[in-house]
Amino acid sequence: MQISPLDAWVADQIGLVGRQDLSIQVLRDYQRARLNVTLEHAALNSPFYRQRLGTFQSLSALDDLKQLPFTTSTDLVEQGLQMLAVSQGEIERIVTLRSSGTTGQPKRIYFTRSDLERTRAFFRCGMSQMLKAGDRVLVLLPGELQDSAGRLLADALQVAGIDSEVFGLVNDPGKVAALLASQPFACVVGIPTQVLGVVRHPVAAVPYGHIGSVFLTSDYVPSALVKEVRRIWNCPAINHYGMTELGLTGGVECQALSGYHLREPDLFFEVIDPLTGSVLPAGEMGEVVVTTLTRTGMPLIRYRTGDLARFLPDPCPCGSCLPRLSKLQGRRTGQVDIGGPLKIAMPELDEALFSLSGLINFRATLLPLASGKKAFQLIVETRQGAERQTIAGIDRRLPTLPALRAAVAAGNLVLGSTLLADEPLAVSATAKRMIEKQEKEYASLETID
Ligand SMILES: [Zn+2]
Repeated sequence: MQISPLDAWVADQIGLVGRQDLSIQVLRDYQRARLNVTLEHAALNSPFYRQRLGTFQSLSALDDLKQLPFTTSTDLVEQGLQMLAVSQGEIERIVTLRSSGTTGQPKRIYFTRSDLERTRAFFRCGMSQMLKAGDRVLVLLPGELQDSAGRLLADALQVAGIDSEVFGLVNDPGKVAALLASQPFACVVGIPTQVLGVVRHPVAAVPYGHIGSVFLTSDYVPSALVKEVRRIWNCPAINHYGMTELGLTGGVECQALSGYHLREPDLFFEVIDPLTGSVLPAGEMGEVVVTTLTRTGMPLIRYRTGDLARFLPDPCPCGSCLPRLSKLQGRRTGQVDIGGPLKIAMPELDEALFSLSGLINFRATLLPLASGKKAFQLIVETRQGAERQTIAGIDRRLPTLPALRAAVAAGNLVLGSTLLADEPLAVSATAKRMIEKQEKEYASLETID
């Protein structure tokens, strides 16, 4: 198995001549130095951080970072412009994330030209393990705007001699399946539920083994979906940890498909206890916190991503010497009350339902009832001809999910019958995991009052 190409890239980025010299200690020394550069830049140039951090004092050890306050999604919403550490004229791209939070105010993330170039560099490195010059890639991400995710990726690959067709988000899975069947693509890049819609589309079946790999980008990729890609297309599905605040990209799996190798030269990751805020050791699940190390436009210092994961304590089978982050386990705020102390999150539903071969997508809703109970209802999009068997499968499976079963047994929840969607759900909020993500993605699992 090839060692993750990130090791060589990390070594190069932090100023080493070869990967042989790379070690965790060398990386941490580099990161501490970069943290000090970031803290100084932020404290000097950003009104928000000047006020939040006070007088700049450099960190003598990485451990000192623990003493700095967190920044949150609310800070981005309420004080985004004050977080800028450059003049607005130097901002090349603004990504607006609409939130379903109480204020309804959008988050805006600002990037300079050099910030975008760092993103392109990481995209190029992450995809180099699957691609070579002359390959073609189908990109199922937005590409209308110059620096949208699809375009940034295509531009990054172009430098390496790899051509991309930026198709945009999938409105019509049949059209994409037909395109894939008619032309060779070495790799398909997309959002998990959208790719699943194409993989399961029966109209223009893509020849088995026709595609070299699938690159799934999201904060959460159901393992049932990865298995389906392998079964139907006979190729590996590599997960990518994408989030706008991370500069669209934070980590990528290697060929061992065993957790994310991280964008270490640009980002410093911590995992914290979401309740106490204390930093957790490797192996313990908590909230992912990120500090940017090279971001010039809008540095983020101890930004609480809301994503839940853990550092994997064992070395990667690929032989890399660097740490890995586990597959993400959903969002801290993505859990929804289903009565009493019981909660359920989208990943639990994803894992349970996406293994049903006829299911393309679903939306879950909790409705308050006059009795004080809540009704749980799914609206589903299925493969044509598989409607009845898929709905029957869901209705058999839902009552077996531990959280739902307990809530029903406690008399707090009623399971409504599953409904078929009138129109494709693929262009709904869930389809926009990469670009609007998080709160929005779980907005479908909301209480309607
Ligand atoms: Zn690896």
